Amino acid sequence: MKESEVNLYRESKYLLPIYNRLPLKISYGKGVYLYTEDGTEYLDFFSGLAVNALGYSNDKVIEAIENQLRKYIHISNYYVCTPQVELAKKLVNLSGLSRVFFSNSGTEATEASLKLIRKVAGPEKRIITFSNAFHGRTYGSMSLGGKDIIKQNFSPLLPNIIQLEFNDLESLDKNIAMNTAAVYLEFIQGEGGVRVASNPFIEMLKSLREKYNFILVADEVQTGIGRTGKAFAFNHYNLTPDLLLVAKAIGGGLPLGALIVNQQYENVFNIGDHGSTFGGNPVACAAGLEVLNQVFRGTLLENVLTLGEYFQKQLNNLKLVNNDLIVDVRGMGFIIGVELNQPCSKLVEDFRHRNILVNCTSKNTIRILPPLISTKEHIDHFIRIFKQILEERVI
Ligand SMILES: *Cc1c(COP(=O)(O)O)cnc(C)c1O
Repeated sequence: MKESEVNLYRESKYLLPIYNRLPLKISYGKGVYLYTEDGTEYLDFFSGLAVNALGYSNDKVIEAIENQLRKYIHISNYYVCTPQVELAKKLVNLSGLSRVFFSNSGTEATEASLKLIRKVAGPEKRIITFSNAFHGRTYGSMSLGGKDIIKQNFSPLLPNIIQLEFNDLESLDKNIAMNTAAVYLEFIQGEGGVRVASNPFIEMLKSLREKYNFILVADEVQTGIGRTGKAFAFNHYNLTPDLLLVAKAIGGGLPLGALIVNQQYENVFNIGDHGSTFGGNPVACAAGLEVLNQVFRGTLLENVLTLGEYFQKQLNNLKLVNNDLIVDVRGMGFIIGVELNQPCSKLVEDFRHRNILVNCTSKNTIRILPPLISTKEHIDHFIRIFKQILEERVI
């Protein structure tokens, strides 16, 4: 399909033109590869935006889905649902927190957390978020976000939300006080350009929490469930959140999100305070259980950690000889950003023409989110192709 055809497609009759579609007609996926209708194979290194942790068409996930489909697809939250309970138990054990609310998406998990915070802290206290933060697209989540491009045209937003500079210790120290209800933190900002929270920043946040006792929310919608080589990004730091948001990879490709709360906040919501028709869908939870089974089995996450480091090292080698183009390489495990000194759309296209799919975020940053099952061979192939592109480039 030509680019012009895609534009036609996009502007055509049936869908709102809100997505910038790639010019590929996908037929199916298997493992780390996507295949187009003409049979071309693509190495998918953004895995459905961090959703397909186990790649495509994982047999056991499909089996878990099929088994649940035949029991019931939906019964409503009027009934206790076994896959929900089992998944909640696993998430509680993994996170060290206490109880779970299931939603259908990341933004709904954020919304649930916002309601909880307001119920605890009342209407006046301030919620702190950071520059370039991303917490979703619905009104509450959007109001928390730190990217103007997402918020412009949509005022009025929720009040009493303040954005501070990410990784800026001084601004934290100056602005967090008794009137702080909560702080929303991505330990690694995904949409924001794969920016990693610095240790001093987290230490400062930690000591401010001890002083002012605000609610710390970790948004791990993108970084959770093994993406960074540990269960959660916060496991790399010496700081456990009060509320934890997960989504993306947790449903094995089906819509699922969760707000996980610590013991202190497990009784804030009473019956009727919050809810969702589809939240915690049995099929999505059954898929999620199998995702956790596989992500936390054997040496998979150790591989993500060591291969992630190896990957960054190789990318830094490319940076050494191309420092006129590559400004920075950063990340953790299998969330890696390569910042360029220019928009990355051209490079993304070059990769696609060589059968590799990567994503571009915050204009200048190539975002690499390989499936967690990727091997050294896949990474070496990626580096080889990147090198070729750099050698042939005219930019
Ligand atoms: C993707 C994302 C969200 C929003 O999740 P949706 O499922 O798209 O609503 C929220 N926070 C972070 C950090 C994300 O990466």
